[in-house]
Amino acid sequence: MKVLKFGGTSVANAENIQLVKNIVQKESTNNQLYVVVSALGGVTDLLLNTAYLASQQKEAYLETFGIVEQKHIEVVKKLIPVTRQSAIMSELKRELNILETLLEGAFLIGETTPKLLDKIVGYGELLSSKVIQAYFVTEGISSVFKDSRELIKTNEQFGKAQVNFEVTHQNIQDYSAHNQTDVTLLPGFIASSLKGDSTTLGRGGSDYTAAILAAAVNADVLEIWTDVSGMFTANPKLVKQAVAIKEISYQEAMELSHFGAKVLYPPTIQPILEKEIPIHIKNTFLPNEKGTRISKNTNGKNRPVRGISHIENISLLSLEGPGMVGVPGISKRFFEVLSYQKVSVVLITQASSEHSICVAVATEDAEKAKKALDHSFAYEISLNQIKPTIIENDQAIIALVGDNMKSHQGLSGKMFSTLGKNNVNIRVIAQGASEKNISAVIKKVDVKKALNTLHERFFEENIKQLNLFVMGVGNVGAKFLNQIEQQKKYLKENLKLNIRVIALSNSKKMLFQEGGISLNSWRENLENGEKADKELFFNKVKSLNLRNSIFVDNTANQVIANTYAQYLKNSISVVTCNKIASSSAYQNYQELKQLSRDYNAPFLFETNVGAGLPIIDTLKNLIASGDKITKIQAVLSGSLNFVFNNFDDNHEFVEVVRQAQTEGYTEPDPKIDLSGIDVMRKILILARESGYQLELEDIKNKSFLPESCLATENVEDFFTSLATQKEHFNQLYQNAKENNSRLKYVAEFNNGEASVGLEEIVQQHPFYNLEGKDNIVLFYTERYTEQPLIIKGAGAGADVTASGIFADIIRIGNY
Ligand code: ADP
Ligand code: ASP
Ligand code: MG
Repeated sequence: MKVLKFGGTSVANAENIQLVKNIVQKESTNNQLYVVVSALGGVTDLLLNTAYLASQQKEAYLETFGIVEQKHIEVVKKLIPVTRQSAIMSELKRELNILETLLEGAFLIGETTPKLLDKIVGYGELLSSKVIQAYFVTEGISSVFKDSRELIKTNEQFGKAQVNFEVTHQNIQDYSAHNQTDVTLLPGFIASSLKGDSTTLGRGGSDYTAAILAAAVNADVLEIWTDVSGMFTANPKLVKQAVAIKEISYQEAMELSHFGAKVLYPPTIQPILEKEIPIHIKNTFLPNEKGTRISKNTNGKNRPVRGISHIENISLLSLEGPGMVGVPGISKRFFEVLSYQKVSVVLITQASSEHSICVAVATEDAEKAKKALDHSFAYEISLNQIKPTIIENDQAIIALVGDNMKSHQGLSGKMFSTLGKNNVNIRVIAQGASEKNISAVIKKVDVKKALNTLHERFFEENIKQLNLFVMGVGNVGAKFLNQIEQQKKYLKENLKLNIRVIALSNSKKMLFQEGGISLNSWRENLENGEKADKELFFNKVKSLNLRNSIFVDNTANQVIANTYAQYLKNSISVVTCNKIASSSAYQNYQELKQLSRDYNAPFLFETNVGAGLPIIDTLKNLIASGDKITKIQAVLSGSLNFVFNNFDDNHEFVEVVRQAQTEGYTEPDPKIDLSGIDVMRKILILARESGYQLELEDIKNKSFLPESCLATENVEDFFTSLATQKEHFNQLYQNAKENNSRLKYVAEFNNGEASVGLEEIVQQHPFYNLEGKDNIVLFYTERYTEQPLIIKGAGAGADVTASGIFADIIRIGNY
């Protein structure tokens, strides 16, 4: 014998009910079945709403009642041939008439009592089961209808009545002893009191009805047919990567459902636990999928965390004050008040100082609880010994569940560090006495992010999703997007990183797509995006609140550099090739670094010096391993290196500069390169990263440009002045040649002092053979005293810069 239960979505309309019929038909060939059904999807809510409108004396209740009526009539019309409709139609009309009369009563009196509400709301299941049973008969399934209210007996706690198991079991056993029909159809959710009044078992209670039946008839299995393929590692509607759990123990399933996995109504397991009847959760829409088996013994014991669940709409209630310390009985009174008010406490914490008690309750109960508590402790409150109860709304509980968690150390550490890295603030922590769950109270707005990060951490074999928000899609930006597209698969398979670009912006337009922007067609999509606005951009990034968010700045813009702080303050990492922030006033640089530490959000700018060369990263590693930088010598300008490598007897200086500009090796204004400003910024950044406090003005710049060139005000005048000063540049070249040297623009940091300038480099020097637009850095440290640590390679160009940004992003991924 089997008990099957079909939920609201499974019986939401005629098409779905046909699928249910197929399943029942198939299963009834070998088994006698008890089939429990929910109300047609959405009908319970509609009935509650209709009753509410009626109680408010709003005539609109007739409209919502009309929808309920129409839904059922439509199902009958679609499923049952016209010639066989009359019996069920008149039965349907008869029941609907009674329902309408009940609603009319509520309308006239302007009130609903819990007792009346149960009567009204129970019509959802009553109607659905009668209609479905009539349909089964027309489909040739031998079936009867049995009203659950005649079998399941409860107390009079309307809305969520408690079952009287003794009477109920007896009723069901008496009934089933004489029932030989293949398929018995029963409404879920509804029951009746010993006096005979209709009651309900609580929202989602049809699962419970099925479990009560399964236990009483000693079924071989209880099958819960729903709209997902089992109990998932997390709610699949919020966590895309969640997967169905194949096997799970009763305790684990109970914990998960208790902490919000709605797929199973929490009390469902209780009745069948003793008899060890397995529960199978299956998908009505994909009946061939394996689903989840809940039983006493489960294989797959190795994974400590079996699932993650959450409850929204939680409020925290705290009672605190000096009058609580060392006074026995305060907790007892506190919980008695809540119990008397029928407020169920979802989670308890008590500070060890006894100075406060804090509990989590459903938000709908919070005000009622506060009122009762303040009333009960009025005397202590009037003496200022205890403060009035504090309510914090908009909270949620998130819980990790697993039978084997108790034998694994460090799980809570992992949980909290994962949440902390993503700026999810944890308000309260609790671990169940059985150590089968660890739960935390967090803000409701953080639920989706928290679920996804935890899921990633505990279930996705460490696949980490990085969410990028990219500002600037010019030369470097476009190359960067291209590289992501090309490397995506490799990163996922080899580095377990899943990189998604969520937003793009240039100076005109911006584009956001929460599911990730397709990098094949980003140009067209961005064209059609909304108007760019950097503040709006930030606000959107913030409100999306995605895990592992990274802001990527591919611009050279001061205004964008000014926005980094606000990203870091929201635990959003910043990766940038823009040098402005890290070479701005030391205080600003320092503040950004501090924010990065405080908010656990990396601030990386490897490409500020030497494009894709790992210069800053190497420097950081040296320092982290206890080394100290004593001297840095470097050629850090790809542009200047290009200029001096091509300038000789046959080429005029101004022409070489022009060529460098056309080929994209200089800043748009080449004076920024030739004056040495760009190199000053770079050596400044290296000095700061080495631990020295320096400002741009502290750097000596022995400019090789004559005054007249430095004094120009625009690019063309600058070129003209370079041409006029032809002799000056030729002389520089000739001097070097005579000394068997080459000209290199060198940056140096030594003993806390930095300088930049053109130098004649002799043949033996490592700088002598520096080709094209290469960069080179020599680090002298306490460990590298004689022979410096040398880093050399391509130091300019969009491609290498893009790959440097990419490397920073991967660093964050591995962080
Ligand atoms: P039914 O109407 O069939 O009883 P419910 O809506 O009560 O269905 O329960 C199924 C829903 O439970 C799923 O659609 C899903 O959104 C939600 N859910 C929440 N947590 C989980 C989880 N861990 N596994 C599966 N479903 C879950
Ligand atoms: N129809 C009821 C509800 O929506 C019971 C159920 O579907 O399990 O809560
Ligand atoms: Mg349900």
